[in-house]
Amino acid sequence: RPLLLEVEDLKTYFYLDEGVVRAVDGVSFTIRRGQTVGVVGESGCGKSITARSIMQIVRPPGKIVSGSIRFHRVPPSNGNPGEIIEITKLDPMGKPMRMIRGGEISMVFQEPMTSLSPVHTVGDQVIEAIMLHQLVSKEEARRLAIHMFTKVGMQQPTRTVDRYPHQLSGGMRQRAMIAMALSCNPSLLIADEPTTALDVTTEAQILQLMRDLQRELGMAIMFITHNLGVVAQMTEAVIVMYMGRIVEQATVDNLFYAPKHPYTRLLLKSIPKMGSKAMGTATRLESIRGTVPHPYAIPKGCPFHPRCSDMIPGVCDVVDPPVVSVGDGQMVRCHLYASAQPRDIIPLTADQ
Ligand code: SF4
Ligand code: MG
Repeated sequence: RPLLLEVEDLKTYFYLDEGVVRAVDGVSFTIRRGQTVGVVGESGCGKSITARSIMQIVRPPGKIVSGSIRFHRVPPSNGNPGEIIEITKLDPMGKPMRMIRGGEISMVFQEPMTSLSPVHTVGDQVIEAIMLHQLVSKEEARRLAIHMFTKVGMQQPTRTVDRYPHQLSGGMRQRAMIAMALSCNPSLLIADEPTTALDVTTEAQILQLMRDLQRELGMAIMFITHNLGVVAQMTEAVIVMYMGRIVEQATVDNLFYAPKHPYTRLLLKSIPKMGSKAMGTATRLESIRGTVPHPYAIPKGCPFHPRCSDMIPGVCDVVDPPVVSVGDGQMVRCHLYASAQPRDIIPLTADQ
């Protein structure tokens, strides 16, 4: 599948009085057209800031410091090649970025109330989003909005469009936000914990809805969650983040059946048995051993070393581990594999 998004060595820092928080600290990954990529990690690991950087909605004192975010615009059907747009070079408030944001890349958040305006009906907000990105009349935009509301399973869509957010349930608000996000047929949907605030039943419905819509519309999804059960259900590839960095990247199968990084293994241990009934929602990562160090005081060497049971003294607490490829596209940032690699390629002589 063709490339859609390439993030390379992205650094997004927050400049606070107390010091600099390296919220995203050299993150690189790619998303292909139609692919679903999960991003997991505990709160504060930089998942949301990575997403907000792609959308260029990082608020001061946060700032993209360096790196590249290349968006491969899906080529028009007239045979012209698709452009590659360097998002970090665009003015966040300028028209080109505003056209990408909400048009080609859109986002749904955990709590729709923070992104839906309380003083406008949900329908008007979807209509406004449609009219910002497409040359259609207001009547046509309303027709499209009702069409999207039907698609996302809103009951009585022609009536629901005229409701205010507070008149809808949490699940219905999340459906409204998904309708708004998908109304312009984006090639990438970023979903930041879209079901975390919902009850189990509603969560299952929303996840099913997202899978159905993806099958129908073919967009790629960057799915941010701290719920590994959701990752197992929703994604093909997974990125594990810890303290602003990617510590492991793998296919969903390798992540669950052949995890490499000690942090990934810890995350997996913290979830109830696969397939157990609680997996859907009770799979929170909060319960794992130790706590994330304070963001101003990133430990020297491997940032995970104070919590790691495999820590190699004199190595892990001194030297930053390199990113190591362990085959099958799986990448891990850990000394255990870095030091194993040269040994692995030395030909065996003992048995000869
Ligand atoms: Fe643990 Fe060392 Fe690997 Fe870090 S580099 S995860 S401390 S073994
Ligand atoms: Mg977050």
